Amino acid sequence: MKRVLITGITGFAGSHLADFVLAEHPGVEIYGTYRWRSRRENIEHLEGRIRLIEADLGDMTALRAALAMSRPDAIFHLAAQSFVPTSWTAPTETFHVNAIGQIHLFEAIRSLGLDPVVQLACSSEEYGLVLREETPITELNPLRPLSPYAVSKVAQDLLGYQYFKSYGLRAVRTRGFNHEGPRRGEVFVMSNFARQIAAIEAGAQEAVIRVGNLDAVRDFTDVRDMVRAYWLAAERGEPGEVYNISSGEGITIRDMLDRLLAMSRVEVRVETDPARLRPSDVEVLLGDSSKFRAATGWAPRLPLERTLADSLDYWRARLAGHGATVGA
Ligand code: NDP
Repeated sequence: MKRVLITGITGFAGSHLADFVLAEHPGVEIYGTYRWRSRRENIEHLEGRIRLIEADLGDMTALRAALAMSRPDAIFHLAAQSFVPTSWTAPTETFHVNAIGQIHLFEAIRSLGLDPVVQLACSSEEYGLVLREETPITELNPLRPLSPYAVSKVAQDLLGYQYFKSYGLRAVRTRGFNHEGPRRGEVFVMSNFARQIAAIEAGAQEAVIRVGNLDAVRDFTDVRDMVRAYWLAAERGEPGEVYNISSGEGITIRDMLDRLLAMSRVEVRVETDPARLRPSDVEVLLGDSSKFRAATGWAPRLPLERTLADSLDYWRARLAGHGATVGA
């Protein structure tokens, strides 16, 4: 691969993917899309080493220009309205950005006659309601999405399949399970807990941590392992195919919180906050990624303790006024 385009490079996974490509494939030119009002803190340290192109997924003209400029061999399509709770309050916007936005991207690719491989960042949330006996979840599990976000990701996923079948567009669909680490938005559960602990340590919050549903079981992968998987998906994945990417180890949110609290420098009390509970939550997300591992040789390298420690250090540094290179 000579040139790659990362949509959503200003986000959590996008910025780590850029770090990965720069470190592991230094000859590759990196282009990334941003919006004029995008926060740049995740990519400040990359200035001069990546090329940014302004493009909103809602605007096909801009996407077409971004593709014409970058002419990528691979596209990592990460841009999305990525936060499940916002999809309850803004379901139309979520669908517009995620599903319609992807149609814009696909049609722009087709209209220019380009033939890149397109990795699609689909999600374990698509499985939604999972019965205990269905875990660990394989790609053959029924999709029973439980949020507007999850439905929008099912649409992205199936559009990838359909465009491959209809037009030969080389879409590789990855269903990523939760990934975490430094730079994760503060609204997401692990990052949110880490931020609250760092704020308490800094004396900026009373010593109470507010939490939602602690019983949910999640399968966490470090973001740095996840972006390596995205690269391998583009390089070795079969176009038209779909792959789970997961650690294969489930832990409850309570257990994850306890491990974080054990790293805290101060005593913290835990309180349930009803505002943090969702209309319907996915109880167990535990993935079987053997299909992806067999296709690519991927396996996670970073243990959960490292992800937790780096997330906490990231927030300690952020609250002390340092930038996003922590944990890079
Ligand atoms: P972030 O929310 O951190 O990043 C999302 C990115 O999308 C940002 O760069 C954002 O730009 C961009 N974006 C949002 N709306 C638009 C738009 N209308 N036009 C152009 N760009 C837009 O998400 P993550 O990095 O965590 O996730 C990356 C992808 O992986 C997403 O598709 C997500 O759904 C998927 N995923 C994530 C999982 C996880 O656990 N992290 C699990 C499974 C899938 P801006 O800075 O301007 O807002």
